[in-house]
Amino acid sequence: MPDIATIGAALSSLKTATDIAKFLRASDFNLKKAELKLKMADLVSALAEAKMELVDVQEEILEKDKVITELKEAFESKDQLVRRYDAYYEADSNGAPVGISYCLRCWEGDHKKRQLVCDSKDRMNRTCTSCGQRYEGRRSSEIIPPKEPES
Ligand SMILES: [Zn+2]
Repeated sequence: MPDIATIGAALSSLKTATDIAKFLRASDFNLKKAELKLKMADLVSALAEAKMELVDVQEEILEKDKVITELKEAFESKDQLVRRYDAYYEADSNGAPVGISYCLRCWEGDHKKRQLVCDSKDRMNRTCTSCGQRYEGRRSSEIIPPKEPES
């Protein structure tokens, strides 16, 4: 995976290219044709390397942007989840936990909202669909909202 070393490599290739260009300028084209051709080939190759390395850097930046977006989304929804016992829930208009339960481990560790489900073989517990963490059923149960009083 490209990283900060790739940027270093790209800069180094660009420096090589610059040095060759400077050498060509200083030589005032008094070089033999064969020598000039060789220097030009070196120059083109150094520029091509720099280009490839910069493509890697660009990909890396795009990947990082994606991660930043995911983290921002998780951060923004952090306020919307409230903890009760061993699970997280959406908050109702009063800020009280309500609805289906989300994995405490996934939310606190990775900022990921993962539903807890009942195991058909083990109805006393709930399991995270993502990390497999098990929770005691009564400490992570779904919260059914109280019925609105009829007006
Ligand atoms: Zn989990």
